[in-house]
Amino acid sequence: MSVTEQTYDVVVLGAGSTGENVADIVVRGGLTAVLVEPELVGGECSYWACMPSKALLRGTEVLLEARAVDGAAQAVTGEQDVDATLARRDTFTSHWDDSGQVSWVEGAGIDLIRGSGRLDGERTVVVTGTDGGETRLTARHAVAVCTGSVAATPPIDGLADVGPWSPRDATSAKEVPGRLLVLGGGYVGCEMATAWHALGAEVTLLQRGDRLLPAAEPQASEAVARSLRESGVDVRLGTDVTGARREGDTVVLTTSDGEFRGDEVLVAVGRAARTRDIGLETVGLEPGTYLPVEETLRVTGHPWLYGVGDANGRSLLTHMGKYQARQAGAAIVARARGQEPDTSDWSPFVATADAAAVPSVVFTTPQIASVGRTAARAEKGGLPHRVVEYPIGNVSGAALFADGYEGTAIAVVDTEREVLLGVTFVGPGVAELLQAATIAVVGEVPIARLWHAVPAYPTVNEIWLRLLETYRG
Ligand SMILES: Cc1cc2nc3c(=O)[nH]c(=O)nc-3n(C[C@H](O)[C@H](O)[C@H](O)COP(=O)(O)OP(=O)(O)OC[C@H]3O[C@@H](n4cnc5c(N)ncnc54)[C@H](O)[C@@H]3O)c2cc1C
Repeated sequence: MSVTEQTYDVVVLGAGSTGENVADIVVRGGLTAVLVEPELVGGECSYWACMPSKALLRGTEVLLEARAVDGAAQAVTGEQDVDATLARRDTFTSHWDDSGQVSWVEGAGIDLIRGSGRLDGERTVVVTGTDGGETRLTARHAVAVCTGSVAATPPIDGLADVGPWSPRDATSAKEVPGRLLVLGGGYVGCEMATAWHALGAEVTLLQRGDRLLPAAEPQASEAVARSLRESGVDVRLGTDVTGARREGDTVVLTTSDGEFRGDEVLVAVGRAARTRDIGLETVGLEPGTYLPVEETLRVTGHPWLYGVGDANGRSLLTHMGKYQARQAGAAIVARARGQEPDTSDWSPFVATADAAAVPSVVFTTPQIASVGRTAARAEKGGLPHRVVEYPIGNVSGAALFADGYEGTAIAVVDTEREVLLGVTFVGPGVAELLQAATIAVVGEVPIARLWHAVPAYPTVNEIWLRLLETYRG
């Protein structure tokens, strides 16, 4: 078989949202780049994660919001249309066709090779093409590994044999299952339980720990568990699944809380690095592990190798992968020009926000929007802090937003520096409050100055004023 040899300034493994952005930044910086991708250009977020999951949830959210406003509620006389919801979801995944993203890659001046890449020593990548051909790529300056993550599989007897749903199946299913068992109470499990229950499935959510969304503020976990239960989802906490089997079309899970039966079982118990078959051993790294990276996303001890996005395990979110891509891309360009990038906190070359200010939204009912440190993390980090909490429903803007608005805002304040360490909002529509909190946390805006950031009346943003008043006491 013939082997093609090519040289680029930068070789990027994986054309997900992270890889696309690394390639774009370095090409804008005057370098040449090639993207290597065995599946769909655009990666997990576009086809099996963020976009389809949020498209599945949006209709349910809009209906709930309308039903919470007297006058509008009377106009909502029907149920959510399942076929139309699934069809709208399909448009957001471009029907799992990546030609739009391929055109973008071409337009951005990035080369694309369809195939699976693996490292073969320093600065070298061998690609086995989807057409069977082999290409040997040499990188003049950098190889960026952006191969993402895969769903973790728990070692449960018989589980692999029952044909469980992965998050990919849960976001791309063409039909609503009659009974859905959801294993895992993280954000994927909670969002998919919300979505499929609203579309008609009978859902049981099994969580091993004592609360849902374990990384969130406890008030957020309680609100989501309460709402799921009130809507009819069977939420079982502290439940260990010990075995799985099929009885005809039925999946049976044996657990510490008895047996549960369903038509499908979604396994959403976390993620693992997708770095098993990419030749890490040829450069002295351990296959299957998250890439250990320093502040510019360069793999420790390997000056030419970068690990960006889910592949480094730092913060498994699309926007954080894209942020890291911008920082790593800038560092690659600087080093290619012979300049050593500034690695101080918040410089354009480092991913400081990974540790200090990760924003995230869980699109459950209610939504959970958070940034920075929770009270537990501030405590663990030994930071002097005070927790301030206020019911969002007491704010006029929230009362207008929905009759009987229920929600909570929690701010974690650094009492020594008088800045915000973190903020969590729990309630309908709170996702859109998050960027103000992110700016306050990243900007380390002093509390005294926040009093001058006057929220417009009557909006839900008035919650900021109430949090400040509560802090002042
Ligand atoms: C159900 C679900 C919902 C989510 N919702 C959200 C959300 O609402 N918001 C959010 O911010 N995040 C969300 N996430 C997380 C988000 O999807 C990921 O953080 C993001 O997709 C990571 O992007 P990435 O480019 O690093 O990896 P990926 O998107 O996984 O891309 C990696 C790419 O590398 C390719 N690849 C693998 N092996 C090789 C190889 N050997 N050679 C070349 N290429 C290779 C893969 O085919 C893939 O295309 C969600 C995740 C899930 C599972």
